[in-house]
Amino acid sequence: MSTAYRHLAIADGTSPDLVQDQTLIVTDDRIEWMGHDDEAPSPPAGVRVIDAGGTALVPGLVDAHSHTTLPGGSHWIARIDDSTEELLRVAEENGQIAVQAGTRWFRDVGSPRRDGRALALTVRDSWRGRRDVPYLRAAGTWIAKAGVLPPTIPIEASDADELVAAVLQQIDEGADLVKLYLDGPDRDSSPWTADEVGRATAAAAKRAVTVTAHATTLPGAVAAVQGGVACVEHGSVLDADVAAEMAERGTYLVPTLGVMASWETFQTTTTIDRFVGVEGVAELANRKEVAFESVRIAEKAGVKIAAGTDFGGGSLRANQMAWEIECLVAAGLTPPAALASATWVGGDLLGEDHAGRVAEGGPADFFLVHGNPLEDPSALWRVWRVG
Ligand SMILES: [Zn+2]
Repeated sequence: MSTAYRHLAIADGTSPDLVQDQTLIVTDDRIEWMGHDDEAPSPPAGVRVIDAGGTALVPGLVDAHSHTTLPGGSHWIARIDDSTEELLRVAEENGQIAVQAGTRWFRDVGSPRRDGRALALTVRDSWRGRRDVPYLRAAGTWIAKAGVLPPTIPIEASDADELVAAVLQQIDEGADLVKLYLDGPDRDSSPWTADEVGRATAAAAKRAVTVTAHATTLPGAVAAVQGGVACVEHGSVLDADVAAEMAERGTYLVPTLGVMASWETFQTTTTIDRFVGVEGVAELANRKEVAFESVRIAEKAGVKIAAGTDFGGGSLRANQMAWEIECLVAAGLTPPAALASATWVGGDLLGEDHAGRVAEGGPADFFLVHGNPLEDPSALWRVWRVG
C-alpha cells in the first residue's frame, strides 16, 4: 500500500527555512522517497496520490515529559487515585488524541504503581506494534525521599542504600529510565546530596539505564546535575552556574512551561482558591517569571532543551504539545529552536534514531499542518492529517 503526498512544504526543525514543493512517497508506513516535486518518480498504478498543497510537514513530535496514564486538568493530582481500569482507559484515550495532534512519542516520567508495577510499563508493553498510539518509553514510578510526597504515590527511600535499591527495583520491573524526585523537604534543600544521586546514577548506568530528576528548586537541580543525571525535569529555578555545568556535561532540560500557562487559564475556568485567590495569583506570576527566565539562562548557556507537556502529571492534556512549543517561544527560543526541542532533540534524549526526524527509509512518522511553524508555532494547532 503506497501513498504519494505531493506539493507540500517541510518544516523539520533542522533548518530555519521551509523547504517547498516537496513530494513524499510512503509505502507500508515507511518513507520510500522524498524530494522535489519535479524529481519525483511517476507514481505507479495503484498508488494513492494526495494533493497536500498548502500544508507543511512536521516530524512526529516527541513529548519528552508525559504521564501516559493520567488525564490532567485542574484536578490532576486527585486523578492519581482513580481506579486501575479508569487509568488504563485514560491511557488509551491519551494515546489516540496525542497521535491525532501530531505527537508520535511519549517519554513517560512517572505513573502510579498498580499490582506491584508502574502502570505505564504495562501500557508500554500492550502498545507495542500499534501505530494509532505513540511509541512509549517509560520510567517506572516516582522515587522520593520518605515523607516528601503522599506515601501512596512514590517508592520511598530513607537513605542512599534504599535509594539505590529502589532504582534497581524499577529497572528489574522493566523501566526504560528511572525518575528521581528531587524536591523537598523544603525549597532551600535537596532531599539527596550530589553524592547520593551519584550512587543512584552509577547503579543505573551499570544496567545501561539513565536517571532523570524532577527538580523545581535550585538545590535539587544542582544535586541532580552534579550527581550525573541525564536530564533535569522542570528546572523551574536555574542560575548561570548550574546552566553552565549542564551545558558542559550534556545534561538535558525539559522545562514544562505549559503547566504554568494552563494554571493561568484556571484563573477564569475554575473557582479553585489555589488558582483564583489573591495569593495563588501572585505566587503563580512569580513562579512563571522565574521559570521562563530559567529557560532563557539555560538556552544562553547552550543547554540542550527538549519539549515536554507534563500532561497528566500536570494540568495539560495529552494533545497539547503545541501549547508547550508556544511557551518555549514566549520564553525566548526561536520558533525553529522550539520545533527542534519538540522533535529531534527529544529524540536524542530518548536515544532513538528516528524519533522526531523524517528521512528516506525511516518510518512515516509525520503530520501535516497549515501555516509555517518555523515562524509561528500556533500553526501546530492546525493539524490536517497524520502520516
Ligand atoms: Zn511530571
